[in-house]
Amino acid sequence: ARELEWAKNSPELLAKHKETNGDIVRTRFPPEPNGYLHIGHAKSMNMNFSLAFEKLNVPMENRRTIFRYDDTNPDAETKEYIDSLKRDVAWLGWTPERTTYSSDNFVKLHDLAVQLIKKGLAYCCDMTKLEMEVQRELAMKRVSAKSSGKDPDDEYPIPSPDVLPGRNRDTSIERNLEIFDKMKRGIYDEGTWTLRLKMDFESANPNMYDLVAYRIKFTSHPHAGKGWCIYPAYDFTHGICDSLEQIDYSICTLEFETRREPYYWILWALDMFRPNVYEMSRLNCQYTVLSKRRLLKLVNANYVRGWDDPRMPTISGLRRRGYTKEIVNKFCNDLGATRASNVIEYEKLANTARTCLSETSQRAMVALDPIEITISNWKEHEGTTLTFSVQNSPTDDSLGEHSITLTSTLYIDSSDFRLEDSEEYYGLAPNKAVGIKYHGGNIICDKVIQDNGKVKKLICRLDNAEDRPKPKTWISWVPSDGIRCEVRVYNHLFTVAEPSDLWEEELNPESEIVYADAIIDPSVSELVDASKLDKWQSNAALQFERMGYFVVDLDTTWSHEKKEGKLVFNRTVSLREEIAI
Ligand code: ATP
Ligand code: MG
Ligand code: MG
Repeated sequence: ARELEWAKNSPELLAKHKETNGDIVRTRFPPEPNGYLHIGHAKSMNMNFSLAFEKLNVPMENRRTIFRYDDTNPDAETKEYIDSLKRDVAWLGWTPERTTYSSDNFVKLHDLAVQLIKKGLAYCCDMTKLEMEVQRELAMKRVSAKSSGKDPDDEYPIPSPDVLPGRNRDTSIERNLEIFDKMKRGIYDEGTWTLRLKMDFESANPNMYDLVAYRIKFTSHPHAGKGWCIYPAYDFTHGICDSLEQIDYSICTLEFETRREPYYWILWALDMFRPNVYEMSRLNCQYTVLSKRRLLKLVNANYVRGWDDPRMPTISGLRRRGYTKEIVNKFCNDLGATRASNVIEYEKLANTARTCLSETSQRAMVALDPIEITISNWKEHEGTTLTFSVQNSPTDDSLGEHSITLTSTLYIDSSDFRLEDSEEYYGLAPNKAVGIKYHGGNIICDKVIQDNGKVKKLICRLDNAEDRPKPKTWISWVPSDGIRCEVRVYNHLFTVAEPSDLWEEELNPESEIVYADAIIDPSVSELVDASKLDKWQSNAALQFERMGYFVVDLDTTWSHEKKEGKLVFNRTVSLREEIAI
C-alpha cells in the first residue's frame, strides 16, 4: 500500500502512546451485533487474540485484545445478537482485556465531529442519496479521465458547483454548527441532512469523496438507549475508537483496504494517535455462505432451524453440530494469516473434526432405520452368557467400557439386509448366515416379514456351534433395551461448492436427513441425559459405528433416571470423506 502522509504519527503522539502503553501490544476484535458470529469471525479472533502476537513475537504477558461491539447501526442490531457474540467469544476460549462498545463513545464522537466542523473539515449537507451518487459518479469519471491524460472539463464537465463539489461545502462554520445541533435535537427528518467530511474529490480513491460521518435516524439503540437521533457512520467511528482504545494493530479484511485512507485522514484531521492498519483475506468456505445478510435470510426464510442450526457456519451452529472449540481453533490456526483470497475446502474443516473427535469419542451401535430380528431358537441358548463387555473406545482404554446383552430380540440397520443376495454383498439376506458382533455367533435368516413392501421384521436362527461356517462379516446390532431416538444426518447446505448470486436456488434439499425411528444401544443413556446437557458447551461426542461422529442435540429431553423423553442426535461429520451430494 501507498505510504500516506496522514498515516504518520507525530513524535509527540508516539511518545505519548509509548508512555501510556509501555511494552503492551494491543489488537481488537470488533464485530457488529447484527447477526451471530461465524467461522470467518473465528479466523479473525484467532488472528487478533493469538496469531498476530505470535507473528510479532510479543511475549504472553504483553498481549492485549479488546472485544468491541461495533454498534453504530441500530437498525440491524439487537440485544439477542449482543448476548450471543459474548457467549461465542467466551466459548472459543478467548479472554478480552475488556469489552467495549463503540456506542459508549457516542458523546466523544459527537464532540470530535463538532471539532472537525470548527476546523472547517466537516460540513452539514442536504444532498439526497441520489444526488450524492451522481456526485460520486462524476468525480470518479473526472479522476479517471485525468489519469488517462484527458481533460476532465472536456470529457465530463461539471454542470454546476451545486453538484460537484456540492452546494453545502462552503457553508460557514457557525451555520454548520447550528444545523448539526438541530440534527442532534431532532428538528430535521430522517434523510434530510448529513454531516460530511471535507475530504478530496480529486483523489484516486472514491472513499475520499466527502464521506458521510453522521446521519439522522429516529431509532433507539440496543445499547445506548433512546438518547440519540443522529448516529456516526462506521468509517467515522472505527478509527476513532481504535485510537481512543490505544490499539496498536487494527486488522481487518481486504475489502477495507481502500478505507485505510479515510481512516487515517480522520485521525490526521483530529491529530489523534494512528494505529497500524493491516488487511488479511476474508475466509470463505465451500458449500456455505459467510455473509451475515445471507445467513439472516436463511434464518428468516426458515431454510434452517435458526442461527444455531447445525448446518449453519455460525459458531453456535458448529457447536450444536458437535464441533468443539479445539476443532474450530485448530482449523483457524492451520489456515494461518493470508492475503491471498481463499475459499477453503469444506473437507479441511471436516478432517480437522475427524482428527480431534477420533481421540475422544465413545463408541455406540445404532440402527438408523431399524429392522427387528426375533431369534426363533432362543430356548436353546438360554443359560449361556450373553452379556458382553465392550470397550468405549477401541484405541483408548481410559474411556472405559460398557456391556450389552443379547436377548431374543435385537435390531440391525436396514443397510445390513437385502432381499437379493449377491457375491460382493457381505450382509444378511434370506437363507444366509452372517456373524453378529461381540457375540461372535451366526444368525441365519429364515423368514422375512414385510409391510407395504418394506422389510419390518426377520425371523432368524442363532448358530453358536463350534463347527459353524465362518461368515464373511460380523454386523452391528442394537440390543432389545435400545433407546428410540431421532438421528439427523447433515450434508452440505448447498449443492455447489461456491454458491452464486442465485444461492437460494442452490440450497441442498437433502442437507438434513431425519431418521425419526432410530434406535441406539443403552450404554449412552447416562451420557445423553438432558438435565446434564448445556446449550453453551460442547456435549460429549459419540462415534456411531460406520456412520460417523454424533452429538446430542438441544431438542433432547431424554431422562436417564425416568428412561423416557425424546433423544435427538446430530451428525457432526462422517467417518471418511464422502462424495458431496
Ligand atoms: P458481514 O459482511 O458478514 O456483515 P463484517 O465484516 O461486516 O461481515 P463484522 O461483524 O463487522 O462483519 O466483523 C467483525 C470482524 O471479523 C472484522 O474485523 C472482520 O474483518 C472480521 N471478519 C468478518 N467476516 C470475516 C471472514 N469471513 N473472514 C475473516 N474475517 C472476517
Ligand atoms: Mg457487516
Ligand atoms: Mg463490520
